[in-house]
Amino acid sequence: MSLQEFEPLVLFNTLTRKKEPFVPYNPPYVGMYVCGPTVYSNVHLGNVRTFLNFDILFRYLTHIGYKVRYVRNITDVGHLVGDGDEGEDKIGRIAKLEKLEPMEIVQRYTNDFHEVMATFNILPPSIEPTATGHLIEQIEAVQKLIDKGLAYESNGSVYFDIARYNEFGNNYGKLSGRVLDELRVETRELEGQDEKRNPLDFALWKKAAPEHIMQWNSPWGMGFPGWHLECTCMSSKYLGTSFDIHGGGMDLKFPHHECEIAQGTALNGKEPVRYWMHSNMLTVNGQKMSKSLNNSFLPKELFTGNHPLLEQAFSPMTVRFFMLQSHYRSTLDFSNEALRAAQKGYRKLANGARIIKTMEYESQPESEINEKAKNDIEQSIRRFYDAMNDDINTAVAIAQLFNLLKYINMLYTGQLKYAAIGEDTFKQLETKFLYFFHDILGLIEEKPTGESIINGMLNLYKEYKAEKQYDKVDEIRTYFKNQGLVIRDMKHRIDWAYDE
Ligand code: AMP
Ligand code: ZN
Repeated sequence: MSLQEFEPLVLFNTLTRKKEPFVPYNPPYVGMYVCGPTVYSNVHLGNVRTFLNFDILFRYLTHIGYKVRYVRNITDVGHLVGDGDEGEDKIGRIAKLEKLEPMEIVQRYTNDFHEVMATFNILPPSIEPTATGHLIEQIEAVQKLIDKGLAYESNGSVYFDIARYNEFGNNYGKLSGRVLDELRVETRELEGQDEKRNPLDFALWKKAAPEHIMQWNSPWGMGFPGWHLECTCMSSKYLGTSFDIHGGGMDLKFPHHECEIAQGTALNGKEPVRYWMHSNMLTVNGQKMSKSLNNSFLPKELFTGNHPLLEQAFSPMTVRFFMLQSHYRSTLDFSNEALRAAQKGYRKLANGARIIKTMEYESQPESEINEKAKNDIEQSIRRFYDAMNDDINTAVAIAQLFNLLKYINMLYTGQLKYAAIGEDTFKQLETKFLYFFHDILGLIEEKPTGESIINGMLNLYKEYKAEKQYDKVDEIRTYFKNQGLVIRDMKHRIDWAYDE
């Protein structure tokens, strides 16, 4: 793909609150950082939505020719219950409850996260750094901020000095649009503010109480790093001190990303990120899906249908498709009805992908070109790109895919002759449809598993046997044999087994 052909890509930048042409610092290279999960519990479907949205961006940027270095971290320390500066570490709390080493908790939920990402066909990032793997960088950054007079130590903890930062002409609050005076009122009541010069100052390093299990030595005594600082250190280490795209869920805008901007700017004297992108929330009855609100589903519950809010099971690709039907900046409300509609839509497209792989162009020299059909196909391909270029509008892009599907079905049933659209347009239809479906939207065909086919054949065997159709019975036995299996026809039951 050529970069020129599909430019301009326009992305909504939370920082400027408008859509802007995407111009990377150093094309064709793109640096993209997305805040990863805090690995203290199984990822829920809301988390999946955010990672899926950035998977699409990663895929699309790659598809149009950029060389993307995609960094998505694992938060394995420093994220405190309540997202503030006080309280227990989310991971440490679970480790204590389960009497496990915190790294066992981290490993368990990192494994779960990877498994879930793979199930939804969400690509792995280029680099997946962990916060505990970057303590040296974080301690160095804290020291640098103290040396610059933008952070201060207080009782073994180190805080970022917001008033001082703003004195240098900066504007803490510019990303989230929060006004300092309002914030002051909100934070006044919080406990543990007495160590701070200003209640808004946030922790870069926290002193650890003796019972706090995750702690490390530092110039300020035993402690642990602040959650916001982790992302600043990991992003700048792998992408540089000013990089192209930083993403995360809408709920991370404040304080997490606001603090990242302040830290990056304070450390390096320049804007750390060019485009801030935020993915909106998956909601249930209008409320954010969240573990603490007790309204979250685990992917596993969705695949089995085993949840009070679910009327049936839904497959990973149905869910992926369901999420892509909404624009990433809109909220998306979960409902059985919407998922059922998505199941239908996904399967229609999957059928299109399946059949077009089997179709071959047939030339008919005397056939006339159907200009309308030919143009419509070419326009739809163009409009797919236009939609993606318009701030990754997957909802509109999918509508174009359905239009292309219409022509695939017409060719398949013979309603439209191949020669009526010409070989070039047919080739475009074939390659683009598959590219859009598989590579950009990341959808894959969900073929029936071997087990379900075997069980179906076994049922047929039972029926033929009851009807005494022994030639069919033998045919099925041969089918099993060819698969390396045998039918065990016992007195009390009929089952299959591996042919030993
Ligand atoms: P956490 O592990 O809590 O830090 O969350 C991981 C990612 O999931 C963050 O980018 C959150 O913004 C995002 N997230 C959490 N809840 C939801 C939700 N209901 N819908 C979409 N994204 C969410
Ligand atoms: Zn982060």
